[in-house]
Amino acid sequence: MNAFEMAQAQFDAVAARMKLDKGVADLLRWPLREFKFSIPVRMDDGSLRVFTGFRVQHNDSRGPNKGGIRFAADETIDTVRALAMWMTWKCAVADIPLGGGKGGVIVDPSTLSVSEKERLCRGWMQQMWKHLGPRQDVPAPDVGTTPQMMAWMMDEYSKLVGVYTPGMITGKPLGAGGSLGRTEATGFGVTYCIREAMKHLKMDPKACTASIQGFGNVSQYATIGFTELLGGKVVAVSCWDLKDKKAYTYSKKDGIDGRFLLTIVDQYGTIDKEAAKKAGYEIEAADAWLYKDVDVLIPAAKEGQITGDNVGKISKQVKIIAEGANGPVTIDADKEIQKRGILDIPDFLCNAGGVTTSYFESVQNDMNFYWSTEEVLKRLDDKISVAFHAVLDMSLKEKVYMRDAAYLVSIERVVKAMQHRGWI
Ligand code: NAD
Repeated sequence: MNAFEMAQAQFDAVAARMKLDKGVADLLRWPLREFKFSIPVRMDDGSLRVFTGFRVQHNDSRGPNKGGIRFAADETIDTVRALAMWMTWKCAVADIPLGGGKGGVIVDPSTLSVSEKERLCRGWMQQMWKHLGPRQDVPAPDVGTTPQMMAWMMDEYSKLVGVYTPGMITGKPLGAGGSLGRTEATGFGVTYCIREAMKHLKMDPKACTASIQGFGNVSQYATIGFTELLGGKVVAVSCWDLKDKKAYTYSKKDGIDGRFLLTIVDQYGTIDKEAAKKAGYEIEAADAWLYKDVDVLIPAAKEGQITGDNVGKISKQVKIIAEGANGPVTIDADKEIQKRGILDIPDFLCNAGGVTTSYFESVQNDMNFYWSTEEVLKRLDDKISVAFHAVLDMSLKEKVYMRDAAYLVSIERVVKAMQHRGWI
């Protein structure tokens, strides 16, 4: 099953449960608009290379489409469609007034020079600009794209429309329209969800422990959030070691110091093994993080990590799984987690802090007035907490698993917007 078939199957199951009208379901299981285009780029050696670009706008009933642009060698239209559909549900569950979009280019960006990357970014924008804008569709960085690339794209768009328009794309660098608080946003959003889940389960965060997969953007700030905002203890983090080409778990019984680890991690999220050893960290097998006796597991590295094969070895102590990464739990593991009564915070709710702060970025761009980090994070906390409780309430009311509840909340909201606008 490819990603789009999976996204459609998930949607179909919820649509059936909601007894959604067939016509409405037909509208939602496909994107409203799709663009596929060729981008000619003059390479540094003087040759001309043509790249294939995509943009998919799944549904913009609740507001402009929102979603990243991926530069990946294995990019396909179906991956982009699936990710665009998931963005519609993510924006709806976070209750931000945006729809779902995604874009991409078939390219391995590591094979391009800096100037070739810039020409490719500008070329992508030249093909798509008429269909983008703060009131139409607002892209962002994703796999293989960076804040610098967003700044080039924003510049190209502004030249084409003749007006400086920073709010047409998010994830820009600070000083070029970027927002404070974006770096912390996703990991802190994960933390706010955990805090609310603990309130519901009557757990004292100060007496709780967590184990985390990853030590990149999301997991770094989930580690810091869990210790500094909640007062809990993180006993293990893990990461991929680029040199050894394998993953390790870094653990410390008296608690990980996230701020210290930030000083010995590189930009790809690889922790310096020797420096960690010197500081008293124990270095264990890749999957050791998953089997720790902790209250909370935070898979925040990559997809497909908790599977039918390893789910049975998760400690009985675990009460909460907070999905910081996208799709970290496979379908068969999901069934087992549900059976064990663990409160699973589904990815598109748990990691919605990133897109929520992207939304704040374009709001600030539109106002040409910028907020402090504290203000951004306070607004983020409010949004994520309300989103968490909307899903929890649905889960309790309908007696369904949190993932199904999140789908019910988001699909209901999108359907309602389409009804109000007279589309259906
Ligand atoms: P990142 O590249 O900054 O960090 C990834 C981390 O995972 C690194 O520390 C890497 O070493 C580690 N890792 C990779 N493979 C591993 C393995 N097999 N075992 C253990 N560790 C491994 O990425 P990120 O931005 O933190 O994103 C992580 C996940 O969160 C992805 O699924 C991403 O799609 C999702 N996500 C990120 C954001 C965001 O704002 N950054 C928002 C929403 C969702």
